[in-house]
Amino acid sequence: MEMKRSQEANFLIDMDNKGKVRDWRGKKISSLGLAKVYKRISEKIKPEYAERGVHIRYKQITRHDSIIGEVVSSEPMGLYDKDGKRVVNYEKRAANMEFCGTYLEFINNRDALKLINANFCRVPLCPMCQWRKSMRIFFGVSDIMREIDKRHLNYIPVFLTLTVKNCSLEDLNKNLDIAFNGWNEFMRSKTLNPLVKGERKHIVKGWFRALEITYNDKTNTFHPHFHAIMLVEKSYFKGKDYMKTEDWVKLWRKSAKLNYDPVCDIRRTRSPKGERKEVAEVAKYTYKDAEILSKKLSDDKKDDVVRCLSGALHGRRLYAYGGIMKEIAAELKIKDVDNADLVKSDDEYEVDSSLATMILGYHWNIGVSNYTLAKRVELKGGCENA
Ligand SMILES: [Zn+2]
Repeated sequence: MEMKRSQEANFLIDMDNKGKVRDWRGKKISSLGLAKVYKRISEKIKPEYAERGVHIRYKQITRHDSIIGEVVSSEPMGLYDKDGKRVVNYEKRAANMEFCGTYLEFINNRDALKLINANFCRVPLCPMCQWRKSMRIFFGVSDIMREIDKRHLNYIPVFLTLTVKNCSLEDLNKNLDIAFNGWNEFMRSKTLNPLVKGERKHIVKGWFRALEITYNDKTNTFHPHFHAIMLVEKSYFKGKDYMKTEDWVKLWRKSAKLNYDPVCDIRRTRSPKGERKEVAEVAKYTYKDAEILSKKLSDDKKDDVVRCLSGALHGRRLYAYGGIMKEIAAELKIKDVDNADLVKSDDEYEVDSSLATMILGYHWNIGVSNYTLAKRVELKGGCENA
Protein backbone atom coordinates (compact mmCIF):
# COMPACT_ATOMS: atom_id res chain seq x y z
CA MET A 1 0.00 0.00 0.00
CA GLU A 2 1.26 3.41 -0.89
CA MET A 3 1.60 5.60 2.15
CA LYS A 4 1.22 9.34 2.18
CA ARG A 5 4.52 11.13 1.88
CA SER A 6 3.97 12.82 5.21
CA GLN A 7 3.42 9.44 6.82
CA GLU A 8 6.68 8.30 5.31
CA ALA A 9 8.21 11.26 7.11
CA ASN A 10 6.79 9.54 10.17
CA PHE A 11 4.60 12.43 11.30
CA LEU A 12 0.96 11.80 12.05
CA ILE A 13 -1.46 12.97 9.38
CA ASP A 14 -5.07 12.14 10.19
CA MET A 15 -7.76 13.48 7.87
CA ASP A 16 -11.53 13.46 8.06
CA ASN A 17 -13.68 12.41 5.10
CA LYS A 18 -13.59 15.94 3.71
CA GLY A 19 -9.80 15.89 3.58
CA LYS A 20 -9.45 18.25 6.53
CA VAL A 21 -6.49 17.44 8.75
CA ARG A 22 -7.45 16.65 12.33
CA ASP A 23 -5.44 18.91 14.55
CA TRP A 24 -3.93 16.39 16.98
CA ARG A 25 -0.70 18.34 17.22
CA GLY A 26 -2.43 21.65 17.89
CA LYS A 27 -4.60 20.11 20.60
CA LYS A 28 -1.64 18.44 22.24
CA ILE A 29 0.28 21.73 22.25
CA SER A 30 -2.75 23.48 23.81
CA SER A 31 -3.01 20.79 26.49
CA LEU A 32 0.66 21.25 27.32
CA GLY A 33 0.09 25.01 27.45
CA LEU A 34 -2.81 24.61 29.85
CA ALA A 35 -0.83 22.12 31.94
CA LYS A 36 1.74 24.87 32.45
CA VAL A 37 -0.98 27.25 33.64
CA TYR A 38 -2.29 24.63 36.08
CA LYS A 39 1.20 24.09 37.40
CA ARG A 40 1.67 27.79 38.05
CA ILE A 41 -1.72 27.98 39.78
CA SER A 42 -0.82 25.02 42.00
CA GLU A 43 2.26 26.94 43.19
CA LYS A 44 0.40 30.22 43.68
CA ILE A 45 -2.44 28.59 45.59
CA LYS A 46 -0.25 26.79 48.12
CA PRO A 47 -0.48 29.46 50.88
CA GLU A 48 -4.25 29.75 50.39
CA TYR A 49 -4.71 25.98 50.51
CA ALA A 50 -2.53 25.77 53.64
CA GLU A 51 -4.69 28.40 55.33
CA ARG A 52 -7.86 26.58 54.37
CA GLY A 53 -6.45 23.35 55.75
CA VAL A 54 -6.56 21.55 52.40
CA HIS A 55 -5.68 17.88 52.73
CA ILE A 56 -6.06 14.62 50.84
CA ARG A 57 -9.01 12.51 51.88
CA TYR A 58 -8.78 8.76 51.74
CA LYS A 59 -11.48 6.17 51.58
CA GLN A 60 -11.02 2.74 53.06
CA ILE A 61 -11.53 -0.19 50.79
CA THR A 62 -12.08 -3.62 52.28
CA ARG A 63 -11.63 -6.73 50.19
CA HIS A 64 -11.56 -10.36 51.12
CA ASP A 65 -8.48 -12.41 50.39
CA SER A 66 -8.87 -16.20 50.61
CA ILE A 67 -5.53 -16.63 52.41
CA ILE A 68 -5.00 -13.50 54.51
CA GLY A 69 -8.66 -12.79 55.09
CA GLU A 70 -9.87 -9.21 55.24
CA VAL A 71 -7.53 -6.68 53.62
CA VAL A 72 -8.10 -2.97 54.23
CA SER A 73 -6.43 -0.44 51.99
CA SER A 74 -6.96 3.28 51.60
CA GLU A 75 -7.37 5.10 48.33
CA PRO A 76 -7.10 8.87 47.79
CA MET A 77 -10.47 10.53 47.04
CA GLY A 78 -9.24 14.02 46.31
CA LEU A 79 -8.44 17.30 48.04
CA TYR A 80 -10.75 18.76 50.68
CA ASP A 81 -10.57 21.86 52.85
CA LYS A 82 -11.21 21.85 56.59
CA ASP A 83 -14.93 22.52 56.06
CA GLY A 84 -15.20 19.36 53.98
CA LYS A 85 -15.51 21.19 50.67
CA ARG A 86 -13.80 19.52 47.75
CA VAL A 87 -11.21 21.70 46.04
CA VAL A 88 -9.42 21.48 42.70
CA ASN A 89 -6.13 19.60 42.70
CA TYR A 90 -4.28 21.76 40.20
CA GLU A 91 -1.02 19.91 40.53
CA LYS A 92 -2.58 16.57 39.69
CA ARG A 93 -4.53 18.04 36.81
CA ALA A 94 -1.34 19.58 35.40
CA ALA A 95 0.42 16.22 35.55
CA ASN A 96 -2.53 14.40 33.95
CA MET A 97 -2.85 16.92 31.15
CA GLU A 98 0.83 16.74 30.41
CA PHE A 99 0.42 13.05 29.62
CA CYS A 100 -2.88 13.39 27.80
CA GLY A 101 -2.76 11.81 24.35
CA THR A 102 0.95 11.06 24.44
CA TYR A 103 0.18 7.78 22.69
CA LEU A 104 -2.31 7.33 19.86
CA GLU A 105 -3.03 4.10 18.06
CA PHE A 106 -4.97 3.91 14.80
CA ILE A 107 -6.09 1.38 12.27
CA ASN A 108 -6.08 2.48 8.68
CA ASN A 109 -8.24 1.99 5.65
CA ARG A 110 -6.53 3.46 2.62
CA ASP A 111 -5.76 7.00 3.77
CA ALA A 112 -8.34 7.24 6.53
CA LEU A 113 -7.35 6.52 10.10
CA LYS A 114 -9.51 5.44 12.99
CA LEU A 115 -8.40 5.83 16.57
CA ILE A 116 -8.49 2.56 18.52
CA ASN A 117 -6.40 3.34 21.57
CA ALA A 118 -5.19 6.43 23.43
CA ASN A 119 -4.47 7.76 26.89
CA PHE A 120 -6.77 10.72 27.49
CA CYS A 121 -6.63 12.58 30.80
CA ARG A 122 -10.32 13.62 31.16
CA VAL A 123 -9.40 16.83 32.99
CA PRO A 124 -12.53 18.96 32.44
CA LEU A 125 -10.78 21.84 30.70
CA CYS A 126 -8.19 19.81 28.80
CA PRO A 127 -8.22 21.08 25.18
CA MET A 128 -7.48 17.61 23.79
CA CYS A 129 -10.29 15.99 25.81
CA GLN A 130 -12.71 18.84 25.07
CA TRP A 131 -12.13 18.29 21.40
CA ARG A 132 -12.83 14.57 21.71
CA LYS A 133 -15.93 15.27 23.81
CA SER A 134 -17.32 17.76 21.33
CA MET A 135 -17.00 15.19 18.52
CA ARG A 136 -18.62 12.60 20.71
CA ILE A 137 -21.53 14.94 21.44
CA PHE A 138 -21.88 15.90 17.81
CA PHE A 139 -22.22 12.28 16.70
CA GLY A 140 -24.39 11.41 19.73
CA VAL A 141 -26.86 14.21 19.07
CA SER A 142 -26.81 13.50 15.31
CA ASP A 143 -27.61 9.83 15.98
CA ILE A 144 -30.52 10.78 18.22
CA MET A 145 -31.91 13.18 15.61
CA ARG A 146 -31.58 10.49 12.95
CA GLU A 147 -33.45 8.05 15.19
CA ILE A 148 -36.24 10.57 15.72
CA ASP A 149 -36.57 10.92 11.94
CA LYS A 150 -36.57 7.16 11.55
CA ARG A 151 -39.43 6.81 14.03
CA HIS A 152 -41.43 9.35 12.01
CA LEU A 153 -42.04 11.39 15.09
CA ASN A 154 -43.47 14.65 14.00
CA TYR A 155 -40.96 16.61 16.06
CA ILE A 156 -39.09 19.62 14.81
CA PRO A 157 -35.88 20.87 16.37
CA VAL A 158 -35.70 24.43 17.56
CA PHE A 159 -32.27 25.82 18.36
CA LEU A 160 -32.15 28.10 21.33
CA THR A 161 -29.41 30.21 22.90
CA LEU A 162 -30.03 31.56 26.39
CA THR A 163 -27.61 34.03 27.86
CA VAL A 164 -26.96 35.91 31.06
CA LYS A 165 -25.02 39.18 31.20
CA ASN A 166 -21.24 39.25 31.06
CA CYS A 167 -19.68 38.98 34.48
CA SER A 168 -16.36 39.56 36.20
CA LEU A 169 -14.04 36.57 36.68
CA GLU A 170 -14.90 36.33 40.38
CA ASP A 171 -18.64 36.35 39.70
CA LEU A 172 -18.59 33.41 37.30
CA ASN A 173 -19.52 30.83 39.91
CA LYS A 174 -22.46 32.91 41.14
CA ASN A 175 -23.63 33.53 37.58
CA LEU A 176 -23.43 29.85 36.72
CA ASP A 177 -25.64 29.11 39.72
CA ILE A 178 -28.14 31.60 38.33
CA ALA A 179 -27.97 30.07 34.85
CA PHE A 180 -28.23 26.42 36.01
CA ASN A 181 -31.08 27.12 38.46
CA GLY A 182 -32.68 29.19 35.74
CA TRP A 183 -32.51 26.28 33.33
CA ASN A 184 -34.29 23.96 35.78
CA GLU A 185 -37.02 26.53 36.42
CA PHE A 186 -37.31 27.16 32.70
CA MET A 187 -37.85 23.49 31.83
CA ARG A 188 -40.32 23.06 34.71
CA SER A 189 -42.21 26.27 33.98
CA LYS A 190 -45.97 26.34 33.50
CA THR A 191 -45.42 28.12 30.19
CA LEU A 192 -43.62 25.08 28.76
CA ASN A 193 -45.82 22.61 30.68
CA PRO A 194 -49.34 24.08 30.68
CA LEU A 195 -52.27 22.44 32.37
CA VAL A 196 -54.67 21.18 29.70
CA LYS A 197 -57.91 19.62 30.92
CA GLY A 198 -56.32 18.81 34.24
CA GLU A 199 -53.22 17.26 32.73
CA ARG A 200 -49.72 18.60 32.20
CA LYS A 201 -48.86 19.02 28.57
CA HIS A 202 -45.18 19.15 27.69
CA ILE A 203 -44.54 21.53 24.82
CA VAL A 204 -40.88 20.50 24.66
CA LYS A 205 -40.79 16.78 23.87
CA GLY A 206 -37.05 16.38 24.20
CA TRP A 207 -34.02 18.58 24.70
CA PHE A 208 -30.28 18.75 24.85
CA ARG A 209 -28.32 21.58 26.39
CA ALA A 210 -24.67 22.52 26.59
CA LEU A 211 -22.96 25.27 28.52
CA GLU A 212 -20.52 27.56 26.78
CA ILE A 213 -18.40 30.25 28.39
CA THR A 214 -16.58 32.75 26.27
CA TYR A 215 -13.94 35.11 27.60
CA ASN A 216 -13.54 38.71 26.53
CA ASP A 217 -9.97 39.92 27.10
CA LYS A 218 -10.84 43.57 26.46
CA THR A 219 -13.35 43.78 29.29
CA ASN A 220 -11.84 40.87 31.26
CA THR A 221 -15.27 39.27 31.59
CA PHE A 222 -16.86 35.89 31.05
CA HIS A 223 -19.99 35.37 29.03
CA PRO A 224 -21.81 32.19 30.08
CA HIS A 225 -24.67 30.91 27.94
CA PHE A 226 -26.57 27.76 27.05
CA HIS A 227 -26.97 26.31 23.60
CA ALA A 228 -29.97 24.03 23.43
CA ILE A 229 -31.94 21.89 21.03
CA MET A 230 -35.61 21.56 21.79
CA LEU A 231 -37.98 19.24 20.01
CA VAL A 232 -41.50 20.52 19.54
CA GLU A 233 -44.48 19.14 17.70
CA LYS A 234 -45.03 20.36 14.17
CA SER A 235 -48.37 21.80 15.25
CA TYR A 236 -46.58 24.04 17.75
CA PHE A 237 -45.70 26.57 15.08
CA LYS A 238 -49.32 27.20 14.17
CA GLY A 239 -50.96 26.68 17.53
CA LYS A 240 -51.59 28.88 20.54
CA ASP A 241 -48.50 27.55 22.34
CA TYR A 242 -46.22 29.19 19.80
CA MET A 243 -43.69 31.56 21.39
CA LYS A 244 -42.04 34.51 19.73
CA THR A 245 -38.51 35.57 20.66
CA GLU A 246 -39.86 38.10 23.15
CA ASP A 247 -41.85 35.33 24.87
CA TRP A 248 -38.68 33.24 25.25
CA VAL A 249 -36.87 36.29 26.64
CA LYS A 250 -39.69 36.83 29.13
CA LEU A 251 -39.69 33.21 30.20
CA TRP A 252 -35.90 33.01 30.56
CA ARG A 253 -35.84 36.29 32.48
CA LYS A 254 -38.48 35.01 34.90
CA SER A 255 -36.93 31.53 35.27
CA ALA A 256 -33.42 32.82 35.99
CA LYS A 257 -34.82 35.67 38.12
CA LEU A 258 -32.97 38.34 36.15
CA ASN A 259 -33.62 42.05 36.49
CA TYR A 260 -32.92 42.74 32.82
CA ASP A 261 -34.06 41.36 29.47
CA PRO A 262 -31.52 38.68 28.55
CA VAL A 263 -30.38 38.05 25.00
CA CYS A 264 -32.08 34.95 23.58
CA ASP A 265 -31.79 33.56 20.11
CA ILE A 266 -34.26 31.09 18.71
CA ARG A 267 -34.26 29.53 15.29
CA ARG A 268 -35.82 26.73 13.36
CA THR A 269 -34.07 25.15 10.41
CA ARG A 270 -35.57 23.15 7.63
CA SER A 271 -32.61 21.94 5.63
CA PRO A 272 -30.68 18.95 6.98
CA LYS A 273 -27.47 20.84 6.23
CA GLY A 274 -28.54 23.75 8.39
CA GLU A 275 -29.50 21.29 11.07
CA ARG A 276 -26.04 19.74 11.02
CA LYS A 277 -24.49 23.16 11.41
CA GLU A 278 -26.76 23.91 14.32
CA VAL A 279 -26.00 20.58 15.98
CA ALA A 280 -22.31 21.44 15.66
CA GLU A 281 -23.07 24.74 17.40
CA VAL A 282 -24.61 22.92 20.34
CA ALA A 283 -21.71 20.46 20.46
CA LYS A 284 -19.16 23.25 20.73
CA TYR A 285 -16.53 23.40 23.41
CA THR A 286 -17.36 24.59 26.91
CA TYR A 287 -14.72 27.25 26.42
CA LYS A 288 -12.34 28.16 23.62
CA ASP A 289 -8.81 27.20 24.57
CA ALA A 290 -7.42 29.62 21.98
CA GLU A 291 -9.11 32.51 23.81
CA ILE A 292 -7.50 31.60 27.10
CA LEU A 293 -4.11 30.46 25.88
CA SER A 294 -3.84 33.49 23.59
CA LYS A 295 -0.39 35.07 23.39
CA LYS A 296 -2.08 38.41 24.06
CA LEU A 297 -2.73 37.44 27.68
CA SER A 298 -0.05 37.73 30.34
CA ASP A 299 0.74 34.63 32.37
CA ASP A 300 -0.88 36.16 35.45
CA LYS A 301 -4.05 36.92 33.53
CA LYS A 302 -4.14 33.38 32.12
CA ASP A 303 -3.76 31.98 35.63
CA ASP A 304 -6.65 34.13 36.91
CA VAL A 305 -8.94 33.18 34.04
CA VAL A 306 -8.21 29.45 34.26
CA ARG A 307 -8.53 29.40 38.03
CA CYS A 308 -11.94 31.09 37.98
CA LEU A 309 -13.10 28.86 35.15
CA SER A 310 -11.86 25.65 36.80
CA GLY A 311 -13.31 26.53 40.18
CA ALA A 312 -16.69 27.57 38.76
CA LEU A 313 -17.08 24.49 36.55
CA HIS A 314 -16.07 22.06 39.29
CA GLY A 315 -18.77 19.42 39.69
CA ARG A 316 -21.21 20.89 37.14
CA ARG A 317 -23.03 18.98 34.44
CA LEU A 318 -21.94 20.75 31.31
CA TYR A 319 -24.11 18.71 28.95
CA ALA A 320 -27.52 17.18 29.57
CA TYR A 321 -30.37 15.46 27.75
CA GLY A 322 -34.04 15.53 28.66
CA GLY A 323 -37.36 13.99 27.56
CA ILE A 324 -37.39 11.79 24.48
CA MET A 325 -33.80 12.71 23.63
CA LYS A 326 -32.73 11.29 26.97
CA GLU A 327 -34.78 8.14 26.39
CA ILE A 328 -33.30 7.58 22.94
CA ALA A 329 -29.80 8.30 24.24
CA ALA A 330 -30.32 5.51 26.78
CA GLU A 331 -31.69 3.14 24.12
CA LEU A 332 -28.79 3.85 21.76
CA LYS A 333 -26.45 3.50 24.75
CA ILE A 334 -25.13 6.99 24.22
CA LYS A 335 -23.37 7.65 27.46
CA ASP A 336 -23.07 10.85 29.36
CA VAL A 337 -20.02 12.42 27.74
CA ASP A 338 -18.36 12.77 31.15
CA ASN A 339 -18.31 8.98 31.43
CA ALA A 340 -18.02 8.21 27.74
CA ASP A 341 -15.06 6.54 26.13
CA LEU A 342 -13.21 9.36 24.39
CA VAL A 343 -11.42 6.98 22.04
CA LYS A 344 -14.68 6.29 20.25
CA SER A 345 -15.30 9.90 19.35
CA ASP A 346 -14.66 9.54 15.66
CA ASP A 347 -17.28 9.30 13.05
CA GLU A 348 -17.76 5.55 13.16
CA TYR A 349 -19.04 5.48 9.59
CA GLU A 350 -15.81 6.61 8.04
CA VAL A 351 -13.59 3.62 8.53
CA ASP A 352 -14.62 0.01 8.15
CA SER A 353 -12.46 -1.87 10.67
CA SER A 354 -12.73 -5.12 8.72
CA LEU A 355 -10.90 -3.53 5.79
CA ALA A 356 -8.03 -2.20 7.87
CA THR A 357 -4.60 -3.38 6.81
CA MET A 358 -2.40 -1.80 9.45
CA ILE A 359 -2.11 -0.65 13.02
CA LEU A 360 -0.19 2.59 13.42
CA GLY A 361 1.00 3.86 16.79
CA TYR A 362 2.23 7.42 17.35
CA HIS A 363 4.09 8.89 20.29
CA TRP A 364 4.17 12.55 21.21
CA ASN A 365 7.74 13.52 20.53
CA ILE A 366 8.76 16.44 22.76
CA GLY A 367 11.92 17.18 20.76
CA VAL A 368 10.13 17.86 17.47
CA SER A 369 6.85 18.86 19.14
CA ASN A 370 4.87 16.50 16.95
CA TYR A 371 3.48 12.98 16.76
CA THR A 372 5.95 10.52 15.28
CA LEU A 373 5.38 6.94 14.20
CA ALA A 374 6.36 4.47 16.91
CA LYS A 375 4.73 1.25 15.79
CA ARG A 376 3.52 -0.25 12.55
CA VAL A 377 1.84 -3.61 12.44
CA GLU A 378 0.62 -5.11 9.17
CA LEU A 379 -2.69 -6.84 9.77
CA LYS A 380 -2.48 -9.03 6.69
CA GLY A 381 1.03 -10.42 6.64
CA GLY A 382 4.07 -9.58 8.69
CA CYS A 383 4.62 -7.28 11.62
CA GLU A 384 7.08 -4.47 11.55
CA ASN A 385 8.29 -1.94 14.07
CA ALA A 386 9.02 1.53 12.84
ZN1 LIG B 1 -6.92 15.46 28.19
